[in-house]
Amino acid sequence: AGIINFCANNYLGLSSHPEVIRAAVEALEKFGAGLSSVRFICGTQSIHKDLEEKIARFHQREDAILYASCFDANAGIFEALLTPEDAVLSDELNHASIIDGIRLCKANKYRYKHMDMQDLEAKLKEAQKHRLRLVATDGAFSMDGDIAPLREICQLAQKYDALVFIDECHATGFLGPNGRGTDELLGVMDKVTIINSTLGKALGGAAGGYTTGPKPLIDLLRQRSRPYLFSNSLPPAVVGCASKALDLLMESNAIAQSMAAKTQRFRSKMTAAGFTISGKDHPICPVMLGDARLASVMAEDMLKRGIYVIGFSYPVVPKGKARIRVQISAVHSDEDIDRCVDAFTEVGRKHGALP
Ligand code: PLP
Repeated sequence: AGIINFCANNYLGLSSHPEVIRAAVEALEKFGAGLSSVRFICGTQSIHKDLEEKIARFHQREDAILYASCFDANAGIFEALLTPEDAVLSDELNHASIIDGIRLCKANKYRYKHMDMQDLEAKLKEAQKHRLRLVATDGAFSMDGDIAPLREICQLAQKYDALVFIDECHATGFLGPNGRGTDELLGVMDKVTIINSTLGKALGGAAGGYTTGPKPLIDLLRQRSRPYLFSNSLPPAVVGCASKALDLLMESNAIAQSMAAKTQRFRSKMTAAGFTISGKDHPICPVMLGDARLASVMAEDMLKRGIYVIGFSYPVVPKGKARIRVQISAVHSDEDIDRCVDAFTEVGRKHGALP
């Protein structure tokens, strides 16, 4: 029956969607393979401007700016926005690219305990002495599939006069009633100031990233953000894919709903089988195993049964918290999900992870 991939960030299955592929081919033929230039020299075509406008509309923000990746968007924002008089407060489990972006800036740095609002409040109090405060968090955390408490974060930000930045790489396109992301899911679209996200996961899976937010911020990034200024413009085929992916998602949220139903199916069947799945409702479903070797041998045995999953252990996750991270996609059928659960049950029993 072939091998089924359960470890890609292709949450909506759009990387193989025929309309997305056709849009890429059309963009390639009409606009060429690449621009051989950064955006501000001769690297801006109508499709780049159109995509930026579409991203801003999708997120209901004023403007957007494209990057070659979200890694670049995260590398470029903190240094451009924050001065030595400012402060950035970052969740300790934020993605490596946020950590690196913060390293590059000269603002005062505060790291709060993962999703710990008491600790964030204490750090915000300490940071009152600075000119400006920015709270930075992943919207959804990729190792655990847990979702940042954005309502509480935004309340604290309001109380202590701070801006909120979220990285929506594991949320854009599928979290919230219309797939707008964590801010929509938690009802704080008007309270989160800055969103960074990727075109390389749910939105076609090729490459590309962006920042969306207030127009003056986007104007500032166009003037000052180094990965934007000094790196090549996104290739037309990639722009074509992402643009079509956003069209599909703005027309209907049926694809996201289908993925959510499959996530529910997987989570409830695995829990009934006796496994512990971290997080709640998110298509990142970490099957918690504890032992690093167990995670690795189980993943190998899963592959022998046609299920492609990967074991994660220290230093990628804390010691003693090894897991197999399963990621559900809209392209999985119910039968695929059941095949995966059956394989886990068999392999889990074989290796003593289940009674
Ligand atoms: N932020 C988060 C939370 C991610 O998971 C990733 C990708 O792994 C990135 C940023 C980087 O995204 P990109 O692949 O577009 O550089």
